[in-house]
Amino acid sequence: MVSLIDSHCHLADSDFDSDREQVMERARAAGVQGFVVIGTGASFPEIGKAVTFAEQHDRAYAAAGIHPHEARHFLTSDLNELRHFARRPKFLALGEMGLDYHYNHSPREAQREILIRQLGLARELKRPIIIHCREAWADLRQILKNHWRATGLGGVLHCFSGAREDAFELMDWGFRVSFAGNLTFKKAEDLRKIAQGIPLDRLLTETDSPYLAPVPHRGKRNEPAYVGEVLRQLAALHGLSEEEMGARVLENFKSLFAL
Ligand SMILES: [Zn+2]
Ligand SMILES: [Zn+2]
Repeated sequence: MVSLIDSHCHLADSDFDSDREQVMERARAAGVQGFVVIGTGASFPEIGKAVTFAEQHDRAYAAAGIHPHEARHFLTSDLNELRHFARRPKFLALGEMGLDYHYNHSPREAQREILIRQLGLARELKRPIIIHCREAWADLRQILKNHWRATGLGGVLHCFSGAREDAFELMDWGFRVSFAGNLTFKKAEDLRKIAQGIPLDRLLTETDSPYLAPVPHRGKRNEPAYVGEVLRQLAALHGLSEEEMGARVLENFKSLFAL
């Protein structure tokens, strides 16, 4: 069976309230060996649901952070709660954190401030980070250069959508590049070209469930069992069998998070 990794899914979100255990079962049956459940939200209790969920489920791990969309809710909070999450057993990384200049749900200045504060915390905790970036690559690169590069801890560029040079600069600083279901979309020729050029030891796969379902499930609620579609696309782009690509991605996942 092909080994699958879902490096980014929001399984603790309410979209899965009615059938979460069946979703997990389908994922395991499809060969998913590891899930990173991402905790985000407008409050720390909401963010922490992912950590609790991971503790209760085999093969699940957690990340927790303040999403750029929610940055405005946290400007006056201290980030101590995140420090507590990081002490729990299945916690792998801080995030997702980053910049989203596409939606601008929080003012850009607030997004940058919260990102920089979380980078400080991740440095202190010596944990990798999971980056969300949309249409903000120049600012992201500048901030990571000043506040993260020297740590060598790296992290994940989740649902990668930048340019080739963004990926290559950030890979030099230890990042892995994670592709999601949009890699399978008909119009994603440019993204596929970029994915083809990413070295095999830097590739990761994800669903970003419940969002961004890959072809042929596009438009439906996404779930981790569908990550095989992303892997199949990556394998084809690199001229490998799915088994070989699955083994590579599993290896990359384990090495980044020291599992
Ligand atoms: Zn994201
Ligand atoms: Zn996400």
